[in-house]
Amino acid sequence: MLFRVLVDTYERLEATTSRLEMADILAEFFREAEPEVLRKAIYLTQGQLYPDFYPQKLGMADKLLLRTLAFVTGMKESAIQELQLKEGDLGVVAERIFQGKRQTTLFSEPLTFQRVYSALERVSVSEGGGSQDAKMKQLAEVLNDASPVEAKYISRIVTGKMRLGVAAMTVIDALAIAFATKEERDSVERAFNISSDLGMVAEVLTRSGLEGVKNIHVTVGNPIRVMLAERMSSPVDILERMGGSCAFEYKYDGVRVQAHIGGGKVTLYSRRLEDLTGQFPDVVRSLSAAFKGTTAIMEGECVPVDLNTGEFLPFQEVSHRRGRKHGLEEAMEDYPVRLCLFDLLFLDGQDMTEAPYLRRRSALQSCVETSEGVRLSEMRVLDDENGVQAFFMEALRDGCEGLMAKSIGTESQYRAGNRGFLWIKYKKEYRSEMNDTVDLVVVGAFAGRGRRKGFYGALLMATYNETEDRFETVSKLGSGFDDAMLAELPPRLERHRVPERHHLVSSNIQADFWFEPGLVLEVLGAEITVSPTHTAAFGKLRKDAGLAIRFPRFTGKVRDDKGPREATTSEELLLMYGRQLKKVDE
Ligand code: ATP
Repeated sequence: MLFRVLVDTYERLEATTSRLEMADILAEFFREAEPEVLRKAIYLTQGQLYPDFYPQKLGMADKLLLRTLAFVTGMKESAIQELQLKEGDLGVVAERIFQGKRQTTLFSEPLTFQRVYSALERVSVSEGGGSQDAKMKQLAEVLNDASPVEAKYISRIVTGKMRLGVAAMTVIDALAIAFATKEERDSVERAFNISSDLGMVAEVLTRSGLEGVKNIHVTVGNPIRVMLAERMSSPVDILERMGGSCAFEYKYDGVRVQAHIGGGKVTLYSRRLEDLTGQFPDVVRSLSAAFKGTTAIMEGECVPVDLNTGEFLPFQEVSHRRGRKHGLEEAMEDYPVRLCLFDLLFLDGQDMTEAPYLRRRSALQSCVETSEGVRLSEMRVLDDENGVQAFFMEALRDGCEGLMAKSIGTESQYRAGNRGFLWIKYKKEYRSEMNDTVDLVVVGAFAGRGRRKGFYGALLMATYNETEDRFETVSKLGSGFDDAMLAELPPRLERHRVPERHHLVSSNIQADFWFEPGLVLEVLGAEITVSPTHTAAFGKLRKDAGLAIRFPRFTGKVRDDKGPREATTSEELLLMYGRQLKKVDE
């Protein structure tokens, strides 16, 4: 097939914004294309060469394309750059400068689809030293024979910016129009949702018809499009929607992964189906050890844990450090990542996506031996509002965002690629961002673990309650200490050491060491949250909770100029919370 045929289709697609019209235009093209071409054309339409989850990506940098265009047309790079600034779209720029070029070039051979696709494949695999030149040569070779409008789309494809606005669902509509009935569209969509490979589904549809599509099964190595949740803001409404009772799980605040285990290998995919395996060698190791079966697809949330405070950490915090002082190995030692598993989609040759929630959950429980690195999400089946509220507070106490409610009815399958009310998120409604530092008093400490063995691993920090003349805890502080400060802390704190909790300190937490309030440190946190664990301003906002500073970090400043009673007060913290409060769940 000539590349021109696809390009004509793209031109027609670009001229419309109507999804219905787009589907008709695509269907027309699909009917004409051979199965193999159809598959590849679908990837190209999305600005890709392969499905999302393949590691090879095109994504050529604009700069390199610019150089290639200059090379092919003989124009100055700076002149093309100027045009790009004006137009914004390198595809349009390519088309314009090719119109000029055409007058000087002799007749060239029309491009076939296959030739363009193969050239793009070679562009994507050129790696290593001199790869930029190699990419440029491969691309120039095909651009030399391109017409202006072909150059426009080759430029867009190679930079991954198609701008056609064709969503996967529109492609599915088109496939149904071309090869199936309206009723059969669901089977095509389901095949896509469990394989994440629209090109493959299309090829099977043209070669083997709908029967072939129905035979596409969940397969280890083909990520399944993730199931998503709706949201609601009251436990009563959630319970009502769920028919009176449902499962509630902790909602962890980390990175969702879909783990594919098989053939002695573990592959981790992100929510957007990118391969994340290389980023989590520790998760791969602990999951291989924990899984007792042969093949499986599981889902869970990866959350880094601070060994020294025992609390979850935000991901940015960890990645930020990886590049700096510590290497990956050290970061893994200090902040090991825990995988909290919440679903099982495939087990030992069996598709589990159609099984109801409780069956999937019990199968998950029996195929995994939990460890420090792999746990199952905390889960409780509940049917009353108070129970849900209590579990919600426990989730917050343990550093989670809230709860995920999950239907336990017979219809509670894993709906790949769908957002619906079978899962409902119930998040902490309010969060207050911190943008000012606070001065907190050290009232306790915890013994160090890992590389902090022999030092304090974390400190228990408090605000001052002026009215009652007491020190109320707000957080465990483990971040922001360099080695020198870690070594300095024990002698500095020695003179404040007391054998048990000081009578001026209110704490629900049992520390390993206690101090008379004395040393004041400057701390910056990410946010102030409601917490049932900490005692600062307890009962002021909610009768059963105080305030906590989440993800606190020592700024490096010891406030020797301040006595403990000059530290930030609980009242001030409450005001800060109120001032910066914003509804997050919108
Ligand atoms: P969404 O995923 O709904 O588009 P989002 O990316 O903003 O929205 P959230 O609204 O925070 O994410 O909630 C959904 C995410 O919560 C899931 O994609 C998953 O990563 C995470 N999660 C944490 N704990 C669980 C759990 N127990 N069950 C399911 N998902 C969980």
